[in-house]
Amino acid sequence: MNTYKICLLKGDGIGPEIVNEAVKVLDVCAKKFNFAVEYDEALLGGCAIDATGSPLPQETIDKCKAADSVLLGAVGGPKWDKLPGSQRPEAGLLGIRGELGLFANLRPAVIFEPLKGASPVKDEIIGDSLDIMVVRELTGGIYFGERGRRETDGEVEAYDTEQYKVSEIKRIAKVAFDMAMKRNKKVTSVDKANVLEASRLWRETVIEVAKDYPDVELNHLYVDNTAMQLVRNPKQFDVILTNNIFGDILSDEASMISGSIGMLASASLSGSNSGLYEPIHGSAPDIAGQNIANPLATILSVAMMLRYSLDEAEAADAIESAVNNVLKNNRTPDIYTEGTNNVTCVEMGDLVCKELM
Ligand code: NAD
Repeated sequence: MNTYKICLLKGDGIGPEIVNEAVKVLDVCAKKFNFAVEYDEALLGGCAIDATGSPLPQETIDKCKAADSVLLGAVGGPKWDKLPGSQRPEAGLLGIRGELGLFANLRPAVIFEPLKGASPVKDEIIGDSLDIMVVRELTGGIYFGERGRRETDGEVEAYDTEQYKVSEIKRIAKVAFDMAMKRNKKVTSVDKANVLEASRLWRETVIEVAKDYPDVELNHLYVDNTAMQLVRNPKQFDVILTNNIFGDILSDEASMISGSIGMLASASLSGSNSGLYEPIHGSAPDIAGQNIANPLATILSVAMMLRYSLDEAEAADAIESAVNNVLKNNRTPDIYTEGTNNVTCVEMGDLVCKELM
């Protein structure tokens, strides 16, 4: 029987509430699909600042590195808002991503059938369902390139530089193609190759990598066209492969097609199998401690962990299907519609567990 070591970073605000529900679901999966889970817990964000003075204590880095996978709730809150940038909870989040070498960010944009009405995109465009995976490069490009300010023609000029090495493009492209092989075998690579040199290298390199994946269909779109196509005809996409800055914007656009922030999971992967899994929403301090947070984004993050880091695809499918079934009649307040049961965070976790058993 396989045993997986999972490090839990519950974080702040609703973080502990939603992670507790996800752990319940993972425990049920372990029993049902015959694997074992060993948990460790570590501090990140505001709770770490309160306990140790640092948003990312060394002990947290060590525990995450020793784990097969990391599950994060969320960090941050008004209590720590006045601290300088490098000491804020969010610095802990950026820090742990860097420490774990997480260069690939995966953001699925999925619409569960019972929630179709919540999407801002019309029913006839979405059809029965929607399932897009955005694969974004996370540690390169203009967010990490040379930047500064200088005096030009007697005034201040600021500059940021988009830069990518072939090796950086290759490794993220491989993630996208591997992902496509587990899905519908289509990759859309997004760039601005009509204008940017870094995009031309991006496109050339992606074409090279595609030669190792003859079963995957590859097409290229400019980023402006992609932004338009995502709302005009999102069903044309399977895996979208993109650089850091374009991915930042497009993954938000794609995920909002699903209509609800409490439903959206994400994964950040390194070259090895390990990864960090988290909901895309924040710590929701406005509803923390009230047992009304929606735990489904975190539960769906566990499904991603099972699929992409632990190779337990059957368990991942089971969680997604249980969530879909539970949503037919039950909603937390953020996604509530008349005619369904208004349930708490804990009740939602229990319902998913029951559906899985
Ligand atoms: P947020 O995502 O926490 O909340 C936005 C709105 O969505 C709020 O009204 C909140 O109640 C609601 N919401 C979010 N998640 C929900 C859930 N699971 N169930 C029900 N409702 C939910 O964003 P914000 O208010 O801009 O930020 C709050 C704090 O979270 C800030 O300190 C911010 O820096 C931090 N933050 C952390 C992360 C992270 O840890 N990855 C991401 C974004 C924001």
